[in-house]
Amino acid sequence: NGNTLVPNDSELVKNTTTLINVSTEHKVDSVLALMTIDEKIGQLVQYSGKWNATGPSTSKRDQYKHDKLKKGEVGSMLNIASVASIRETQRIVMENSRLKIPLIFAYDVIHGYKTIFPIPLGESASWDLGIIEKSAAIAAKEAAASGLNWTFAPMIDVSRDARWGRIMEGSGEDTYLTTKIGVARINGFQGNDLSAAHTIAACAKHFVGYGFAEGGRDYNTVNIGEFELHNTILPPFKAASEVGVATFMNAFNDIDGIPATGHKYLQRDLLKKDWNWPGLMVSDWGSIGEMIAHGYARDLEHASEIAINAGSDMDMESYAYEASLKTLVEKGKVSTAILDDAVRRVLRLKFQLGLFDDPYKYCDEEREKADVYSKENLEIARDVAKKSIVLLKNDNQILPLSKKIKSIAVIGPLADDKDTPLGNWRARADYNSAVSLLEGVKHAVSKSTAIYYEKGIELTIPIVKPGENQFARPLEFNTTDSSGIEKAVELAKKVEVVLLAIGEDAYQTGEGRSQVDIGFKGLQLELLEAIQKVNKNIVIVLMNGRPMDLSRASEVAPTILECWHLGSESGNAIADVIFGDYNPSGKLPVSFPHHVGQEPLYYNQKNTGRPYGSTQVTYSSYRDAPRSALYPFGHGLSYTTFSYDNFKLSTTEINASEHIEVSVNVTNAGKRNGEEVVQLYIRDLVGSLVRPIKELKGFKKLMIKAGETKTVTFKINAETLQFYTANKKWEVEPGAFEVWVGGSSLAELKQSFSVVE
Ligand code: BGC
Repeated sequence: NGNTLVPNDSELVKNTTTLINVSTEHKVDSVLALMTIDEKIGQLVQYSGKWNATGPSTSKRDQYKHDKLKKGEVGSMLNIASVASIRETQRIVMENSRLKIPLIFAYDVIHGYKTIFPIPLGESASWDLGIIEKSAAIAAKEAAASGLNWTFAPMIDVSRDARWGRIMEGSGEDTYLTTKIGVARINGFQGNDLSAAHTIAACAKHFVGYGFAEGGRDYNTVNIGEFELHNTILPPFKAASEVGVATFMNAFNDIDGIPATGHKYLQRDLLKKDWNWPGLMVSDWGSIGEMIAHGYARDLEHASEIAINAGSDMDMESYAYEASLKTLVEKGKVSTAILDDAVRRVLRLKFQLGLFDDPYKYCDEEREKADVYSKENLEIARDVAKKSIVLLKNDNQILPLSKKIKSIAVIGPLADDKDTPLGNWRARADYNSAVSLLEGVKHAVSKSTAIYYEKGIELTIPIVKPGENQFARPLEFNTTDSSGIEKAVELAKKVEVVLLAIGEDAYQTGEGRSQVDIGFKGLQLELLEAIQKVNKNIVIVLMNGRPMDLSRASEVAPTILECWHLGSESGNAIADVIFGDYNPSGKLPVSFPHHVGQEPLYYNQKNTGRPYGSTQVTYSSYRDAPRSALYPFGHGLSYTTFSYDNFKLSTTEINASEHIEVSVNVTNAGKRNGEEVVQLYIRDLVGSLVRPIKELKGFKKLMIKAGETKTVTFKINAETLQFYTANKKWEVEPGAFEVWVGGSSLAELKQSFSVVE
C-alpha cells in the first residue's frame, strides 16, 4: 500500500514474535477501504459507560454517547460490565451503524474480576511466575465470561517510592523482577490465542515513567535522564512488546518536559518503529486533553495534533479526536497515513479478538454464571494469597502456632474486616466479600481453641456508606476515639497469643492516593503498645498496599507477617501460614525503610563517591537514620532455614558471546519442608556509565525438603550483562564483574569474573 508506517507483507511474515499475521492485515485493509473519515475517527474514540442492561441513561452525556454509538463513531467502551449490558451496547452499534464494526469492551481488571487475588505488589512478593500467570488467566476468564475483552493491566511501572499510591499496582522497585512478572501477567491474560473466548487483550501501562513521579506525588513530573529511562524504566515495556502484548497505555506525566501522551520519540519512533510493535496505544483517561493543563497544547485541537502525530491511537475520554481530527486532516496537520495507521491498529485488535466473526462471542449468560466467582477460582485465589505472604520477622519463633493452642485473641481494626483485604482496583468484587482474618482463624482451629475478638479501635471514620462509590471514598482517620483499647488490653492479658491486624485501609493506596506519612495512621501504634505491655506474644498481621514505616512496630513486636491486601481468600490464606499448613515463602519486591525520609529507597542504587569503594548495599546516608533498609528487597523468612554453599562459576573469563554456568548448593537446614527464592545479583565494576551496586539478574523459586540439598544453576550471558551504554546502545562492556547468590539482596556469597574483548 506504499505507506511507510505499515510494514509490507514480507516484513509481516518475518515478524513471528508479534501478533501480526498477513491474512489479518488484508482483512484490516479491506475494512479500512470502506470507511469514511468520520468512521475512521470514530474508531479512535473510547468512552466510559457506567450503565446497566438497559443501556445509556437519559442524561445529556449518555445520550450524546448513544448517538455516536448508533452512527458507528465509537471504537471502544470502558467500565461497562456484565453480559446483559455489554450485549445491549454492542447491539446499538450492530443494529444501527453503517459498517457494523463491533466495539471492544475494556475494564480495569487489575488483580481479579470478581474473585480477587492479592494486589499486584503483594502477588509480586510470591516471586512465583507460574501462579502469577495463573491468577491473570483466571481474571481474564471471569472478565471474558462477563462480556469483556480488554483489561488495562498489567501496570509495569517500576516504582521506588513508597509514598506513591500506585505502588500497590506494580511489581515494586526492580526492573528485572517487574519485567518477568509483567510478561507472566500478559501471558496469563492473553493466553496463546487472543481469539479464544476465555482470554482478553492486556495493556502494558503506563508508557512511560509514571512510577517515577517526583516525590511520589501522583501525576507529578518525572525528571530522569535518558540512560535511566532506557536502563531502568523501559525494559519491562520492551519485553511486553516482544511477547505480543496487544495494547499499551500512555501516561499522565511529563518526562523532562514532554508529556508522555505527546511523546513522539517514545511512542512512534521507539515503540512502533524501532521495536516494530503493531499494537494499539490508548491514551490514559483524559490525558490528551490534559496536555492543555500541562501547558503543552494551546487547545483541544492542538492537543489532538500533538497526540496522534506522537503515536497515541485511541482517545480515552478526552473528546479531543472526535472534535478536531477531521479539521486537522483537512488542514494537512495530520496525514491520512497517520490516521489510517491508528485505525488499523484498532481494527487489527478487533480481528484478533474474533469480534468481526461474532461480535457477541463473549456474551453468554450461562458461562457468566459458571465461570465467575467459582469455587475453583476461589481455591486458586487462596493458593496465590498464601504464597504472597512475607514473614518479615519471627524473633521468638512464635509462628507457626500449634492448632492445639488454648487461646488466641484476634485484635485490631482490620481483624474482622471483610472489605479491606480486597484492596483498591478491585474490579467487580462485592463489598465485604473477603474472608476476614477472624473468620480464617476460626475455620482453621479445632474446637478446643478459644478464639476471642476485639476491634480495639476504628482505623477510619466511615463517611461513605457501604455500596456508595468506594473508589472515590474520602478517608478520615480516627485519632481521638481510644475507648476500645482498654477492652482489647483486658482480652490480651488472658490469651496465649495475640494476632493484631493493623495497617492500611484499602483506599489508602491506589490512584490519587499518595501519602507523605507511610506509618500507621490513627491510633494503631497506641493499640500495639498498650497490648505489648500485657502480652509479649504478639503477631502483627499487616495489611497494606505499600512499604510502610515499620520501625516502631518492629521494636515492639517479635513477629510481623506481611499480608498486603490479599483478596477474596485473605483470612483463609493467612491462617494457612499462621498455623503452619503453608510455610511462608514470599520475598519483598520492594525495600521497607526505617523512615519515610529515606524514600525513594531501593537496593540497586548507584554508588556515590562516598563511602569510598563500597560494593555493599549501603545507601547514601542521613545523619539521623541508618543507611540501610529496615527490611531489604528480596527479604523474607521461612519456618525453616536455608544455607548456601559450594558457589561455583564454570569459568571466570568469557567474551561477550560466551556464557558462565553458575551453581550453588542450597540446603534446607531446618525441620520443615519449604520453598526458597534463590536470587542472583551482579555488579559491573567499571562502566561507561555508573552502574548499580547490585542488580538482580536471575531467581528461582524451589521447594526443598527438610534436610535436603539442591543444586541451583543460572546462566550468565550477554543478556545478563548488557546495558544501555554511553554509546546509546545495548552492549556488554568488557571488564570486571561480581556475582552474588543468596536469599535476599543482602546476599553475601560472592565470586568475580571478567569479560574480555
Ligand atoms: C488510570 C489508568 C486506568 C484508567 C481507566 C486512569 O485514571 O491512570 O491506569 O486504566 O484510568 O480507568
